[in-house]
Amino acid sequence: MARQLYTARLEKKVCLSESAQCYHFEFVVDELDKFDLEAGQFVSLIAQDPAGKQQTRAYSLAAAANGNRFELCINRVEGGFFSNYIADLPVGGSIQMHGPHGHFVLNKPVTDSFLVATGTGIAPMRAMTQWLFPENGPDRSEGREIHLFFGTRYPTELYFHEYFTELEKKHKNFHYTTTVSRAGEEWKGNRGYVQKYISEVIEAQARQKGIALPMVPPPDSTPASELKFDQYTYICGLNNMVSSVRDALTGYGWHKKQIIFERYD
Ligand SMILES: Cc1cc2nc3c(=O)[nH]c(=O)nc-3n(C[C@H](O)[C@H](O)[C@H](O)COP(=O)(O)OP(=O)(O)OC[C@H]3O[C@@H](n4cnc5c(N)ncnc54)[C@H](O)[C@@H]3O)c2cc1C
Repeated sequence: MARQLYTARLEKKVCLSESAQCYHFEFVVDELDKFDLEAGQFVSLIAQDPAGKQQTRAYSLAAAANGNRFELCINRVEGGFFSNYIADLPVGGSIQMHGPHGHFVLNKPVTDSFLVATGTGIAPMRAMTQWLFPENGPDRSEGREIHLFFGTRYPTELYFHEYFTELEKKHKNFHYTTTVSRAGEEWKGNRGYVQKYISEVIEAQARQKGIALPMVPPPDSTPASELKFDQYTYICGLNNMVSSVRDALTGYGWHKKQIIFERYD
């Protein structure tokens, strides 16, 4: 079946990091009253490359559903076609798209969750936290403990830092940990990779609950319908990081069905 194509008009574009060439985009789909997305999903954008070939790329939605609008967070990839095409799109310009797509969404009912992102992998996490803790409307987090771990190379790449910092102040069940892998000496915050900080929380939780690590996962013979967990991890970013975090979690005895991920490359 042919996919329904839409035209999205770029209404606003903000540079989030000059050095990383990362932009925050706000689009409007004029032909729709409502763009019905689920936090965590992505859209497919379409454009013709200089050779006249149609190119399609996936981009995570960076905000929860909001009428006929959607937001993206995209950085230029050196030598890449699409990321540079979209980064150069002027306000008022438009792009063909289809979606939303994807299964990288929160389990319902909401459970305790680790949200783990590096770089622009923060986009779906912003959509998820906006959905969990809406600015206007009832809290959907059901009192569950939500930990966001955000890793970047430099402090200037901690996109939406103010939003997450404010969210942490407002909601005692939302915890925000940042870490930077290539910070200069002046950086006073965490350093290194996200895995280290996830491990600290897992080990602290185990001590608090009196659980020995590694936990014993359910046997492989357990039917999928019976695999229900009280904690999930959602990981988004480049493949190396996703694999490392998955390995770290399975090393603690997490079941692979507890680990939901989106890889950008
Ligand atoms: C489900 C999904 C959601 C995504 N969401 C986002 C998003 O929200 N924001 C975002 O910026 N990107 C996102 N991406 C990545 C995006 O789809 C493109 O792959 C990226 O913009 C590069 O496209 P390009 O045409 O510029 O580069 P290409 O011409 O496709 O690739 C050029 C070179 O860069 C490498 N490469 C591809 N992607 C990346 C990358 N992300 N980082 C570094 N090197 C890369 C390729 O291996 C290739 O060697 C997502 C990918 C997927 C699958």
